[in-house]
Amino acid sequence: MSSCRGSRNFYYLCNANHETISLQLSSFNYKLSSTYRTPKKAIDLSTPITYLPGVGPQRAKLLESELNIITFRDLLYYFPYKHIDRSRLYYVHELTPEMPFVQVKGEILSFEEEGQGRKRRLIAHFTDGMGLIDLVWFQAGTFRWIKKSYLIGKQYIVFGRPGVFKDRINIPHPDIDSADSLQLGTMGLQPYYNTTERMKKGGLNSRSIERFTGTLFERLSALPLNDPDPLPAALRQQLNLIPLWQSLHDLHYPPSAEALRRATYRQKFEELFFIQLGLLRFARLRQQQVSGYVFAHVGERFNTFYRDYLPFELTNAQKRVIREMRHDMGSGKQMNRLLQGDVGSGKTLVALMTMLIALDNGYQACLMAPTEILAEQHYATFKEFLGDMPVRVELLTGSVKGKRRREPILKGTRAGEVDILIGTHAVLEDTVAFNRLGLVVIDEQHRFGVAQRAKLWKRPAPNPSCQGGEAVERPPHVLVMTATPIPRTLAMTLYGDLDVSVIDELPPGRKPIETRHFWEERTESLYRGIRTEISKGRQVYVVYPLIKESEKMDIQDLENGYADLCHAFPDLRISKVHGQMKSAEKDDEMDRFVRGETQILVATTVIEVGVNVPNASVMVIQNAERFGLAQLHQLRGRVGRGAEQSYCILVTKYQISPETKKRIEIMCETNDGFEIAEADLKFRGPGDLEGTQQSGMAFDLHIANLARDGQLVQLARDTANHILDEDPQQCKPEYASMWQHLRDLGKSAIDWSNIS
Ligand code: ADP
Ligand code: MG
Repeated sequence: MSSCRGSRNFYYLCNANHETISLQLSSFNYKLSSTYRTPKKAIDLSTPITYLPGVGPQRAKLLESELNIITFRDLLYYFPYKHIDRSRLYYVHELTPEMPFVQVKGEILSFEEEGQGRKRRLIAHFTDGMGLIDLVWFQAGTFRWIKKSYLIGKQYIVFGRPGVFKDRINIPHPDIDSADSLQLGTMGLQPYYNTTERMKKGGLNSRSIERFTGTLFERLSALPLNDPDPLPAALRQQLNLIPLWQSLHDLHYPPSAEALRRATYRQKFEELFFIQLGLLRFARLRQQQVSGYVFAHVGERFNTFYRDYLPFELTNAQKRVIREMRHDMGSGKQMNRLLQGDVGSGKTLVALMTMLIALDNGYQACLMAPTEILAEQHYATFKEFLGDMPVRVELLTGSVKGKRRREPILKGTRAGEVDILIGTHAVLEDTVAFNRLGLVVIDEQHRFGVAQRAKLWKRPAPNPSCQGGEAVERPPHVLVMTATPIPRTLAMTLYGDLDVSVIDELPPGRKPIETRHFWEERTESLYRGIRTEISKGRQVYVVYPLIKESEKMDIQDLENGYADLCHAFPDLRISKVHGQMKSAEKDDEMDRFVRGETQILVATTVIEVGVNVPNASVMVIQNAERFGLAQLHQLRGRVGRGAEQSYCILVTKYQISPETKKRIEIMCETNDGFEIAEADLKFRGPGDLEGTQQSGMAFDLHIANLARDGQLVQLARDTANHILDEDPQQCKPEYASMWQHLRDLGKSAIDWSNIS
């Protein structure tokens, strides 16, 4: 093995997720760092990995099946998850079991086997001349090989994580290198690669990968790759980013902590930049190619509603958002807007008024909700708001069947007599045809995938409508509403192709919800609280964590809870709603609660989104430890909709994990959905964030982290916008490899062109 690779050298702290935590580095003269030479002849990075010296067919197979490493390039992009600084040698007497990694130099005095059966272990007594420690192995099968490989009396450098057993310091399963083969101090940071159990069984560990990348870099340093840098030189210079080749090298074998930081920064930027470039290019293409219906004026129905029917004054935020949409819909381009607003901020009304603009311009509108309960509720809300205005609203869900479905609804929609169609996925069915659909509103977007969004956009009207005397066929304007507060950085990435409006103001007179944490055992005082509120005329939700609706155990939870409550409040009426009930039955129970006939609603998370009963003032969440932050916030949003003081009670077991405790604390501290979303993102990482998986746009980020690299997302987006302004035709020669790279990415990831 060559001495210019990092593996043979020294130690100490890791960088979790490529963030260097703490390093002790002396300045090393690192050979490879001087090898970013001009290429002589390029090495072909698409060479199968089996041809890399030391790999061979067997290992190549493992690398492919376990890590998806097929070519030289794949290996080049298989970055270590941490580096350990191996620049310091310790004395044996300095070691403590608290140290993360240590490295000592000395000799083995003797070997000894101890214990029986599964407790069998091999011990090497090791000394540096000043103190004594044990090196320990536990896999009996390897003992012979170890005893043969390491010679008594020879000088070794031993590296590992110290432990303690019977008052004596030991290093289990150490890395051992012969002291003379190791050039102390040539290099500080050793890469650590993720490997799988199956690889380990096949004899491949982080060290093996390190050998492979080492070999690859040796070859590349002789014949550097000719992959062009996808980031144009001018851009790199402007943003102070290092070249591709250097960053790839330094991500594996950084000559210093600073070099690692710069390499990481550059790769993160590149990753985020190309996501933004793809999204923004797609958005612009759509705007150029797809013109929208022009809703030129606000007319009779909007004005009548605003003047005579609106029961309260709009908040400034609502007014602003409606203005933004009026502008979009009048611009001649297709509107694609995301409306964000915390629970209770009044999005439904905004949707309704936007739809009235569509009607005023001679078009139909459609509102799509994720659940039947919600669709029904929107229907009821719309009916109530509109009163006797001449607007025909119909409801279409999976349970609307037969003649009623065919005749007034489908036929009416087709004929253009239905002004507003509200429904679930059912509105996407092929039997549903609009006469002139001008606006689609999707509520609680996170339940719908991009693909479904796309399906709506594509849907042409059966009778192309006339504008300015000409028949035109255009996609409807699209408004996506979500109450799941999405941190800005994530929104920019998930919905980066949409324009965003935010309602950042609640209707006046709302009192902040008080949130409290109860241990399970405190049923008595919980029931007393419920009793007090109900005696004031309020209503109460009690929610149980029913995660999978088919899970018998969880249903039991809800049923038991229902029985307990019936027992504790024999004089009250209690509704029960869960996902396994028949739709009609569910509606019935829900209606009774909405009408105030029942005082308590026992439910699962089916009520999570959108349900609106302003008289309800208490939300009790049982087993709150089983819900994520976003979900807790959604559930809490069911109360605090009236003028009364509302409460949210989070009930948990006595023993909860530190993370759960933190979640509960955040809930008790703040009502601000965006703050909660930020916290959620930090806790769980974006991949897990509720809704992002279903959204079908969960980006596979290799190196950047949306929770931590927020500022970089913004920079990437601004830069991408700038580039698109500068080279709208995508033909500038200095950007050629950048555009090519974007196209290559598109092939493997999301096919943007298909979405529209
Ligand atoms: P969400 O944004 O969660 O969908 P809703 O649209 O359900 O919120 O609105 C919550 C409640 O606030 C509803 O009862 C609605 O009628 C009421 N509301 C909406 N806008 C206003 C306003 N400007 N002033 C007072 N109440 C409002
Ligand atoms: Mg809503």
